[in-house]
Amino acid sequence: MQMSYDLIVIGSGPGGYVCAIRAAQLGMKVAVVEKDDTFGGTCLNIGCIPSKALLHASELYDEAGHMLDKMGINVGAPKLDLRAMMKFKDAGVDGNVKGVAFLFKKNKIDTMHGIGRIVAPGKVEIKTANGKTETIEGKAIVIATGSDVARLPGIDIDEQRIVSSTGALVLAKVPERLLVIGAGVIGLELGSVWRRLGSEVIVVEWLDRILPGIDNEVCRQVQRIFERQGMKFKLSSKVAGIETGGKKVKVTVEPAAGGTPESIESDVVLVAIGRVPFTEGLGLETAGVKMDNKRRIIVDARFATNVPGIYAIGDVIAGPMLAHKAMDEGTAVAELLAGQAGHVNYDVIPNVVYTYPEIASVGKSEEELKEAGIAYKVGKFPFTANGRAKANLQTDGFVKILADAKTDRVLGVHIVGADAGNMIAEAAVAMEFGAASEDIARTCHPHPTFTEAVKEAALAVDKRAIHM
Ligand SMILES: Cc1cc2nc3c(=O)[nH]c(=O)nc-3n(C[C@H](O)[C@H](O)[C@H](O)COP(=O)(O)OP(=O)(O)OC[C@H]3O[C@@H](n4cnc5c(N)ncnc54)[C@H](O)[C@@H]3O)c2cc1C
Repeated sequence: MQMSYDLIVIGSGPGGYVCAIRAAQLGMKVAVVEKDDTFGGTCLNIGCIPSKALLHASELYDEAGHMLDKMGINVGAPKLDLRAMMKFKDAGVDGNVKGVAFLFKKNKIDTMHGIGRIVAPGKVEIKTANGKTETIEGKAIVIATGSDVARLPGIDIDEQRIVSSTGALVLAKVPERLLVIGAGVIGLELGSVWRRLGSEVIVVEWLDRILPGIDNEVCRQVQRIFERQGMKFKLSSKVAGIETGGKKVKVTVEPAAGGTPESIESDVVLVAIGRVPFTEGLGLETAGVKMDNKRRIIVDARFATNVPGIYAIGDVIAGPMLAHKAMDEGTAVAELLAGQAGHVNYDVIPNVVYTYPEIASVGKSEEELKEAGIAYKVGKFPFTANGRAKANLQTDGFVKILADAKTDRVLGVHIVGADAGNMIAEAAVAMEFGAASEDIARTCHPHPTFTEAVKEAALAVDKRAIHM
């Protein structure tokens, strides 16, 4: 195997594998170093893909129990075969990780399994599982080592009864009660999976709201919907301790501001308080690569660290921890290294929560616009007034468009509804092209589709929605 490369990528998650493929397309000789047995990183192995497979399967299970009879389909009460559902999820993961391996081969990218450590600028030592080491050289190194589960001090994640997202994707049986710590995306998605499969789900959140960072109005509405579905919330609360001695896990929950604690028994506790950059074993200190106070690698606008020839992308640098953000950074850094003008527009990175209904947003929230002192107009359209949503009995949610009061330029779009995650792409394209709400309003949308609600919300910016 060749030992000298144009580019060495450490980590094969969505940031790393996309970077490697783009660089190979641009004519570079590329090596990828991955510590795990399979490629694809958090996203493909223990993140986006398995969680979405379980969300899809559990949603169909839920619908079979509550919706099909309303459409004249009588199949009786659905029976859960959790092992088969997990197999279905694993097959999805397998197909995806093999797909990345195929793409590496197709693009003539050399792959090495082992822990990569930067021993000097341009030099990466790879330590394989059997303890052997080898060193390869590269003109450039891109660090794409991603992130790991954030832990709560004093609480040991055993992945059996106290689980992270990784353990919550492989539970062997449906817990009677699941207590979720953290009302962020991962807590709500995996909480939804297990609630649909039969668990009583209680979500404990330190803040006084769910989904921090997402538009307040959206959060208020979806919280009501989740409560109607049976999820319970304890907001402004913190977990003060967990006892695992008995048959049930005993969780002490108290008001965040202090006060009388209560004890809640649970079968499984999911710790979903966020993720932290993963830089262990990389040798960053020795290489002199600077990190910020959250241990994120500091990079400039070209993804370059302070050490010449070393770059970083994805979850290991600042910004939203999202697969598509990592992928776009992977593309951009490869293009920059090839002398092209790679770039990521951080103002237009969509964010999706794959619950039912889905929650999708791009651009600014109302709170952010208020804080920045930007005058804006709001156009809103509910799915209760959308023909397709009414026909499908999927009327939860709305589309909200925030447009600049003076120029009408779209500043933010927020969608709660079935398939919001697919619909938000239209808003992202519009914003990328600097569209005004008038542009969306004058674009012919197919009927009958949920996307007509986006057009109607755009019309509503100027108070001229038709179906409301
Ligand atoms: C449960 C869950 C659900 C999620 N759902 C979504 C979603 O729906 N949409 C979305 O956009 N994002 C989602 N995410 C986030 C998404 O997975 C991450 O943002 C994304 O994977 C980050 O990509 P990355 O390439 O930066 O790092 P990662 O995907 O974390 O990949 C890093 C890779 O580097 C390897 N590595 C680390 N150190 C070394 C080393 N020293 N040597 C060799 N290899 C190393 C790791 O083994 C890993 O394979 C989810 C995350 C979780 C946990």
